[in-house]
Amino acid sequence: MTHEISCKQLVDLVADYLEEAIPDEARAQFEQHLSECGYCSAYVQQLQVTVTLTQKLSESELDKPAPKELLSIFRKWKQDQNLD
Ligand SMILES: [Zn+2]
Repeated sequence: MTHEISCKQLVDLVADYLEEAIPDEARAQFEQHLSECGYCSAYVQQLQVTVTLTQKLSESELDKPAPKELLSIFRKWKQDQNLD
């Protein structure tokens, strides 16, 4: 039986997902949600682009930007959308 996750739970998991620190079961639920929710799918895509850009930048910068900080910004943005 699949336990579906909500948009809010997805946002809570996204940092672990992008860092590949997410458990297999949660990853499956996460990807299941993405396949059914265009909003979250677009959100995660944006986040992946941002994290990729950040990682590219960090190769040439002495100070590494913290992806977690970016994620918290997106998290707040998501909360502001009033998804509940
Ligand atoms: Zn969603």
